Amino acid sequence: MPRFRCVPMPTGTARRFRQTGRDDRGLTLHRRAVDGPGFPCRHCLRLGLPGETMLLGSYDLPHPLGTYWTPSPIFLHADECPRYAAEDEIAPIVLANGLVSIRAYDAAELCLYDLGHVCEGAAVAAPLARALEDPRTRFVNIHTARPGCLLTAVERLG
Ligand SMILES: [Zn+2]
Repeated sequence: MPRFRCVPMPTGTARRFRQTGRDDRGLTLHRRAVDGPGFPCRHCLRLGLPGETMLLGSYDLPHPLGTYWTPSPIFLHADECPRYAAEDEIAPIVLANGLVSIRAYDAAELCLYDLGHVCEGAAVAAPLARALEDPRTRFVNIHTARPGCLLTAVERLG
């Protein structure tokens, strides 16, 4: 596996969501009390814990731009949380997800279909390594496979 890092939502975006109460569509963020494991925060890349409150809104993905660009529904801790910063570690919200979709993109931000893969989050290491080892790949996005929401971007280090 090449060296890599999971890239969360920028802190500036998280702060704007929390301060304005609005998402990237200009819509009012929903507030949800955590009552189970289905609340992955896209800033700290950890699951919301019982007793915490999450914001739910639409997030404009930084990449891919162009033809494959898409917004995504996301959860975000309502209160401040530390931005995920680990290297060479798969984010907890990916490992915890029952079914994820790996989507690799090239330098032109076009999708590399042959590297796409769907599997349990806990089994993501091998297909992620395959995508990152391919010289065409510039970055990878990992989505939930059922609703299709972005969990995290992944980029090679060095
Ligand atoms: Zn968080």
